[in-house]
Amino acid sequence: LKAWKSHRDEYLDELHRLEGRGDAAHLHSCPKCGVRPGKIRCEDCFGEELLCETCCVHTHQSNPLHVRWNGRSFERCTLKQLGLRVQLGHVNSTCPCPRKGNVDFTIIHTNGVHSVAVDFCGCEDQNPGSMRQQLLRRRWFPGTVTEPQTCCTFACLKQFHTLTLQSKVSGYDYYRALECLADNTGINPPPERLKTFMRIVRQWRHLRMLKRAGIRYD
Ligand SMILES: [Zn+2]
Ligand SMILES: [Zn+2]
Ligand SMILES: [Zn+2]
Repeated sequence: LKAWKSHRDEYLDELHRLEGRGDAAHLHSCPKCGVRPGKIRCEDCFGEELLCETCCVHTHQSNPLHVRWNGRSFERCTLKQLGLRVQLGHVNSTCPCPRKGNVDFTIIHTNGVHSVAVDFCGCEDQNPGSMRQQLLRRRWFPGTVTEPQTCCTFACLKQFHTLTLQSKVSGYDYYRALECLADNTGINPPPERLKTFMRIVRQWRHLRMLKRAGIRYD
């Protein structure tokens, strides 16, 4: 600790630097397209580049749950606000018959609670599966069997399971922590989905038990 203490101010400066434009301070345009101004930074991507809105949406097609900041005002903004739509039922192809998901579609993930614009696949010839199946095939656990409007990612369910084993954290406390990650100010709280989260956790635990026991049917 003594050795670290002499470098403490340097650490502090670096933390402050990350809250500003940092390495991108001398760049005026987005490094991906070189045309539009770079103003969005992703907290979850490695690298501190500031991208334009279009390139940010493009680079997050396969990472729709990353958290972004507007590099100009340094306010949090969502990929949904930037125009990202998540297409289910297709891999690396566009859907000719997308069916819009619920306008309040919400995903509970390890880094917070997200509002996401989702399109289900409606191609009848492709046999894309039900809404539930399309979500489960992306490792998103639907909160209801019909017209789901909330999901919890498998990664989040696994994290909560490990935490309950190691630290006995309650579902209530875990979910409230995720809400704080989404909005620590309380000004723009994410939609309330605690009850749905708890229901998903019960179903997930039940399925894990059946899977471990090698039981497929009742
Ligand atoms: Zn760009
Ligand atoms: Zn990202
Ligand atoms: Zn389709």
